[in-house]
Amino acid sequence: MTKKILVLPGDGIGPEIVNEAVKVLNAVKAQFDLDLITEEGLLGGAAIDAAGVPFPDVTQTQAQAADAILLGAVGGPKWDTLDTAIRPEKGLLAIRSQLELFGNLRPAILYPQLAEASSLKPEIVSGLDILIVRELTGGIYFGQPRGIRTLENGERQGYNTYVYSESEIKRIGKVAFEAAMKRDKKVCSIDKANVLEATVLWREVMDELATEYPEVELSHMYVDNAAMQLVRAPKQFDVMVTGNMFGDILSDAAAMLTGSIGMLPSASLDANGKGMYEPCHGSAPDIAGQGIANPLATILSASMMLRYSLGEREAADRIEMAVSQVLDQGLRTADIYSEGNRKVTTQEMGDAVVAALS
Ligand code: NAD
Repeated sequence: MTKKILVLPGDGIGPEIVNEAVKVLNAVKAQFDLDLITEEGLLGGAAIDAAGVPFPDVTQTQAQAADAILLGAVGGPKWDTLDTAIRPEKGLLAIRSQLELFGNLRPAILYPQLAEASSLKPEIVSGLDILIVRELTGGIYFGQPRGIRTLENGERQGYNTYVYSESEIKRIGKVAFEAAMKRDKKVCSIDKANVLEATVLWREVMDELATEYPEVELSHMYVDNAAMQLVRAPKQFDVMVTGNMFGDILSDAAAMLTGSIGMLPSASLDANGKGMYEPCHGSAPDIAGQGIANPLATILSASMMLRYSLGEREAADRIEMAVSQVLDQGLRTADIYSEGNRKVTTQEMGDAVVAALS
């Protein structure tokens, strides 16, 4: 059956990098005779400009009908003064929440060719391959009640609610254990069970779930220690699973271990494997329109899409090999450039990946 991909270029460098990823997708489509079609839609600032809202009805319909979604990035200074309810980033939260994309997969892989780009010593990070599984639609970012209130004494108070139900913990735990089964079979669950009851339950549910995966070794770590261990000895981790807020912070720290945010893909999955795929970085307004953005995170997001939502492992492997090959050839966009290599534009990088596919 034909699989439908909704392509949402978004804002800033979004259209430039997505263009290269679509080029790569079209090339593997021809090479592997894949039954895929792509259609474009609007999200974020581009949607606000065209339709007045960041996640228009027509995009909602397209997203529901798609098998997978490829997103560039949203946001930029042009929309920063708008009311928060209609900011580009609201479109992103809305699409994740409407499609129930609760499982965020963020690999932090350090290509040996880029070991020098990391701020840590090469021996600490070379060969790094961590997968952070972050719960994306619950926890303190969504918990009710929330707000800013004025107390009887006239002082203002901000408050949020950290809440996780058993079923929410279980479904994200399953994503982590299933992923670990395809990797080194180790899951480290991150919590703050010494302080937060919500994460005491988190730990209990993870322990219960572990009995269903006897091959997987489960460990637990407090989030403060996890932050320390990530910069001290990151290679000890295989799969890390955690809630929305801790995952937000730890996955950015893990991303930086790899030297460039321009290399990192991500996936956000629902319970049936439908997903939205996007680079970890934002819309980089500072370099938008210059043709110098690194398209590899988006190209690798397309490869994750083939692997996790479209069941096309071979095509995904081929893209990842092609990316590694262009790095071997010394091709570098400005963000990962170092002396002795060849600096290329966004488009040249995309073309090189396409050429390396065959
Ligand atoms: P950013 O990730 O856009 O940029 C941070 C720095 O990294 C910038 O110097 C940028 O030039 C560089 N960079 C990012 N991607 C790059 C790439 N592919 N190649 C080369 N360099 C790259 O983060 P920011 O500056 O904090 O945010 C800019 C805008 O993006 C804001 O409006 C923010 O809200 C939005 N944002 C969107 C998403 C998303 O769509 N998922 C995520 C984060 C930020």
